[in-house]
Amino acid sequence: MPLRAQEEDTYTNAPAVPDARAGAPQDPRRPRDPALQGRGIALALLATPVDDPLAPLSGHTGARTIRCDACAHRCVIREGRSGICQVRENRNGTLVSLVYGEAVAAHVEPIEKKPFFHVLPGTDAYSISTVGCNFHCRYCQNWEISQAPREGFRLPTRTLPPDQVVREALAAGARSIAYTYVEPTIFLEYALDTARLARAAGLTNVFVTNGYETPEALELLAPVLDAANVDLKAFSDRFYRRTCGARLEPVRETLVAMRRLGIWIEVTTLVTPGETDDPAELA
Ligand code: SF4
Repeated sequence: MPLRAQEEDTYTNAPAVPDARAGAPQDPRRPRDPALQGRGIALALLATPVDDPLAPLSGHTGARTIRCDACAHRCVIREGRSGICQVRENRNGTLVSLVYGEAVAAHVEPIEKKPFFHVLPGTDAYSISTVGCNFHCRYCQNWEISQAPREGFRLPTRTLPPDQVVREALAAGARSIAYTYVEPTIFLEYALDTARLARAAGLTNVFVTNGYETPEALELLAPVLDAANVDLKAFSDRFYRRTCGARLEPVRETLVAMRRLGIWIEVTTLVTPGETDDPAELA
């Protein structure tokens, strides 16, 4: 069970930025399926059909089992089920995103709060998020939104399509769009569409990420992602497994891959007393 945030509430649905400027580019090429015309649902990228030899044991045929390749969990998802993040679901053999264009947070904030210290210092970042996360860190500050799907409670969201994100960012005088508060890889399609429009409108795109992207996801993001603040939570695989439900090695691989792809990296390590404050580990 995640702990309640002790620090500043960074995600409460504050009033949206008013008077969004018209004229931003339109949403490009998002694949649409008439069967998925629900609120916040879109076809997901990076879905691979897989053989599922264990499926018959649980009453499934396995024929429509899919692997999600957006993050390093690479969840194998049977029909009607969702992955660890709980926002990517197998519907009749098709992987869908359940949070496309449904923002649970959209705020104008100093980019230093993300925190970035070498990217557009002194400017504001229009910061967006959906619900869900691929980690479940026991100390998460934003657990209400990151863990809402896992905990089974619904939060109010605002329909905020990519073109509107860009318009509101421009209207607010922001110089960048930050994909933040939860792990943005879980809303990869929404982030990508927004980032493409933002890039065309002259805005910078920044990820605040736990670094669990797959190489495939990074290849999709690299053309439009300018910078990432990677949360290197510890240098201990044990800590990652026990506290976050993840592994260390994929984060290390992401840091190397981002460097290779030309994405500007800043690294944050939250020092947790008794957990991640071993000087030998921090050195
Ligand atoms: S993005 Fe979600 S469904 Fe996809 S692999 Fe990661 S946790 Fe699993």
